[in-house]
Amino acid sequence: MPNDPLILRGKEVAAAIKADLEQRIAKLAEHGIKPGLTVIIVGEDPASQVYVRSKERQSAKLGIDSRVIRLETDTSEDALLAHVESLNQDGSVHGILVQLPLPRHIDSQRVIEAINPDKDVDGFHPVSVGKLVLDLDGFVSCTPAGIIEIMRYYNIETEGKHVVVVGRSNIVGKPIANLMIQKRKMANSTVTMVHTRTPDMGVHTRQADILIVAAGAPEFIGADMVKKGAVVIDVGINRVDDDSVEKGYRLVGDVAYDEVLEKVSAITPVPGGVGPMTIAMLLSNTVKSAENSLK
Ligand code: NAD
Repeated sequence: MPNDPLILRGKEVAAAIKADLEQRIAKLAEHGIKPGLTVIIVGEDPASQVYVRSKERQSAKLGIDSRVIRLETDTSEDALLAHVESLNQDGSVHGILVQLPLPRHIDSQRVIEAINPDKDVDGFHPVSVGKLVLDLDGFVSCTPAGIIEIMRYYNIETEGKHVVVVGRSNIVGKPIANLMIQKRKMANSTVTMVHTRTPDMGVHTRQADILIVAAGAPEFIGADMVKKGAVVIDVGINRVDDDSVEKGYRLVGDVAYDEVLEKVSAITPVPGGVGPMTIAMLLSNTVKSAENSLK
């Protein structure tokens, strides 16, 4: 009988990370510095509103100076850029995050590139992405950074392992693939990326020692696509209709959790897996930026 699979609880890892951040924030206070994070949100996208409130609440709880600038949907690109520029100049702001998606009339890439890379705690600026690829010190985008921290916390061996990444988005797939091939601890993996244009994806996913799925397709990775004993990291957060609950929906990952569970050695649940790590790493990047300001 194989051992029970290890459930990789991001909530627990995030709590450990925040406990460490508390100490670093206390040290910064000795130098008269309070880390500052400002989030700009444009429009009323309900999911974004939820994320932003959660970021605001968690950063304030930790002792980060947390501010939110809420702008109307019809805010012009120039007006948004002016806000970003003013935050770039503000010494009390160590992290700037512009919540995506932005309304369609705004060029998101232009806005991302307007953020001072020294304050780019989301890690989306091309300078941050370039540093990630080159393995230079910079801000690593939060979800991929969170995946690495979950694996570190649970002592998942990555060296020499075959990591298969499903999905090639700029915020998850591409950065996590680049992180896993780096020549260092919690990396040194052999990486394969698959996506919507990959014929017969299962041929690849079934070879994965570590399968990282970030596709945004509810429960589409079944047991037949996973190798026995694999580690599965499910990044997907999808709402599916469910009349049996008051909200009318429930959250599921990209992995069919119940059937895959029986086959794997370790797996992240949804919710409570990768999700809580993203905000923890945002707070971590903000504290790092405040520490950098001392140097
Ligand atoms: P995205 O839509 O930008 O990219 C999805 C990628 O997956 C694309 O490259 C696409 O080619 C690929 N893909 C889609 N369907 C596929 C399929 N059936 N087979 C193979 N490849 C497929 O999405 P994203 O921003 O990377 O997010 C992916 C998922 O992760 C979403 O559910 C999102 O909500 C979730 N997410 C969670 C967190 C978190 O904090 N846990 C953070 C970011 C994203």
